[in-house]
Amino acid sequence: MMNVPVNEPVITDAAKKYVTEAVESGWVSSGGKYIPAFEEKFAEFIGVKHAITTTNGNSALHLALVALDVGPDDEVILPAFTMGACLNAVLYTGATPVLVDSEPETFNIDTSLLEAHVSPKTKAIMPVHIYGHACEMDAVMEIAQKHNIAVLEDAAEVHGGTYKGQMCGSIGDIGCFSFYGNKIVTTGEGGMVVTDDDALASRMRSLKDIAHSPDRRFWHDEMGFNYRMTNMQAGLGLGQLENVDTFLAHKQWMGEEYTKRLRDISGLRLPITKDGVLNVYWMYTVLVEDDFGMNRDDLRAALKEKGIDTRDFFYSLADMGLADTARKDASYPVAEDIAQRGFYLPSGLALSEEQLSYVCETLHAIAGS
Ligand SMILES: *Cc1c(COP(=O)(O)O)cnc(C)c1O
Repeated sequence: MMNVPVNEPVITDAAKKYVTEAVESGWVSSGGKYIPAFEEKFAEFIGVKHAITTTNGNSALHLALVALDVGPDDEVILPAFTMGACLNAVLYTGATPVLVDSEPETFNIDTSLLEAHVSPKTKAIMPVHIYGHACEMDAVMEIAQKHNIAVLEDAAEVHGGTYKGQMCGSIGDIGCFSFYGNKIVTTGEGGMVVTDDDALASRMRSLKDIAHSPDRRFWHDEMGFNYRMTNMQAGLGLGQLENVDTFLAHKQWMGEEYTKRLRDISGLRLPITKDGVLNVYWMYTVLVEDDFGMNRDDLRAALKEKGIDTRDFFYSLADMGLADTARKDASYPVAEDIAQRGFYLPSGLALSEEQLSYVCETLHAIAGS
């Protein structure tokens, strides 16, 4: 039996070298050469003017919301189907989260429902590019511009993914990334905010470093945070980022191979890619339909018995007590349905041809096809 982890990262030799150099240089906190080097290279990769490191994706989202002046009297629109960090970031600011249901095909925020959720209090929209597939950003931007609302893209799952030729994260006012160990670029723990706006960039630089007064260090006119990444993490990130084309090519290969080998299994719905989107397959998702003959949980258990580790989808945030403050004058049939039927297959950068074949053969054997 083969053992296939759900997400095994690949750490490049350059990354190992830079981390060691960072440690040996003595610059182990947020000074040192790798922070600016990583920020510059990431800004170039995304095609934006400014990239600013943070401690993680969650703090990146929070920093962006604070820089956009989101506070207790405001509402922030986000999808019901996303990671808890998105909801947390809104709750930290005291703003009211407003949840929107998802598209059934891509699991992204359903932009046909978006405008009905806009109110005079709406300050920001947080579209989340789920599992590596871009949201309908034209529709998001049109509604945002019409109502004068800021757009903060959560691009934590979509490094290198594009929408109509534009990099995800570079389309809204601010883009937020995570570099957690299972993300396409990792720093272990870490995050980044990106923007073309000079004022937002300098505000975020100040806020992430406890908002020292520009005139007097250790004097504070405003409440800030310590959201500083370490030089060691930036070294890791820089080394990984130098190899990002190879990582993205591996993801394309994985997405295409899974689809080719699994598409004739009836009752398994495979991911789609819309026209104009470069899907980076952060995770290769499947939905278990009624005619598969087994439910999602039983299928995952059967795979686990064969050494194949998988993960459930997110739950709908609307179902959680945490979201009780949320204005949710809507229902979430799609988010609830996909939460019960969806899971993802092993999708890590270290996934080998042998492992992928084994996963596909095992799925065929279970399905009896
Ligand atoms: C991973 C992730 C985050 C949070 O990132 P952390 O670095 O773990 O804090 C936020 N949003 C989405 C969509 C994510 O996938």
